[in-house]
Amino acid sequence: ERRSNMIGRFAPSPSGRMHLGNLWSCLLAWLAARSAGGSIVLRLEDLDPDRCRQEYCDQVMRDLEWLGLDWDGEPVYQSRRTEAYAAAFRDLEKQGLVYPCYCTRAERLASSAPHRSDGITVYDGRCRSLTAPEREKLEKTRRPAWRAAVGEKSISFCDMLCGKYEEDLKMDCGDFILRRSDGVYAYQLAVVVDDAEMGVTQVVRGSDLLSSTPRQIWLQERLNLPHPQYGHVPLLLAPDGRRLAKRDRDQELGQLQSRFTAPQIVGTLAHAAGLLDREEEVAPEELLPLFRWDKLPRKDLTLSIGEKI
Ligand code: GLU
Repeated sequence: ERRSNMIGRFAPSPSGRMHLGNLWSCLLAWLAARSAGGSIVLRLEDLDPDRCRQEYCDQVMRDLEWLGLDWDGEPVYQSRRTEAYAAAFRDLEKQGLVYPCYCTRAERLASSAPHRSDGITVYDGRCRSLTAPEREKLEKTRRPAWRAAVGEKSISFCDMLCGKYEEDLKMDCGDFILRRSDGVYAYQLAVVVDDAEMGVTQVVRGSDLLSSTPRQIWLQERLNLPHPQYGHVPLLLAPDGRRLAKRDRDQELGQLQSRFTAPQIVGTLAHAAGLLDREEEVAPEELLPLFRWDKLPRKDLTLSIGEKI
């Protein structure tokens, strides 16, 4: 039953089976929306044709259902929304905020620009000042990627878990990619267009995306779109301190399903989230009255389910 206008979202990348870390952020996104009486929408982030397949999309939906997480309305596939991204791209172009970049990956990495802890190389903006004849010449040898020309203004927002977060886009990130040289629109642009189109008012996702948020807010401002509220949840780490990733096969849902029930997995995650005193078997609905932002941990946590149960 819908009691508020809040709209949360699931935004999985269907490039394989979900792992425990994906389930963790989906469970928290679901609880944050549903416990406030809001709705939740599903978007399959299948923009990259090399990595995403329809069968993975179907699997993601079966996995969410298996865990007991539901959503409202029809799922949205990013692969079918190219027209909307193209329109936003043209809007930015008209504002003079887009330019072609001919740098190869090797050239970018070799530049003296600083590298950030999240692996991004701050782009030094060298292609911004190319003259028309220079562009024409380069055009003959390679297809460009397209970058957003960011301003010097610093962007800050208040995250529901991480507090105030601020970036000077030019210094901390540089002009970022809007469209790859193979024509695929970039995650940052697609997310902003889709969150607005789907009416999303609350974004709950892993804290690995905290540093993407200033770029998304910058785009929302340029495209005249509303800013959702953001809550970046801590990441689950493997026992050796790495982030859980697709390669941690034993934490992948296909593996987990052969050893644990959905209520066991949900219970383990809920305990790690500070919502249960001990690990018991629960359904997501039973957690609704227990969910509170201030109970959630603020730091990344080590959790691998095999050892826990
Ligand atoms: N598709 C992204 C992921 O699975 C999440 C994007 C987002 O929540 O904005 O990591």
